[in-house]
Amino acid sequence: MNIITDNTDYEKLEKKLQKIKNKIVEGYKTATITCARCGEEHIVGESEYIQTYWYEEPYGCSGGAEWHKGEIKFKCMNCEHTHRAYHHPELDKYVGYFKGFTGEYRN
Ligand SMILES: [Zn+2]
Repeated sequence: MNIITDNTDYEKLEKKLQKIKNKIVEGYKTATITCARCGEEHIVGESEYIQTYWYEEPYGCSGGAEWHKGEIKFKCMNCEHTHRAYHHPELDKYVGYFKGFTGEYRN
């Protein structure tokens, strides 16, 4: 039975892996989303998306009366067209790398 006593190689691999992960995150943040209407490109890490929420009416003794996450949308700041993630698959891919989001609440 071999017992590993020197972790030096693993630490180097861990550092290399972290550098690769950082590059991947940076790649997503600097990626662009293109507006299908006007062609304007938006840098993901400098943009915000819209998270919608929908309200579930109360029912029974303790059911409902709560907000649920709905769809994700993106508003082009050039032409002000709002894209739904359903029609723009890139939005789902980049959602964790946006600068932030605004909530849109509907009853
Ligand atoms: Zn646009």
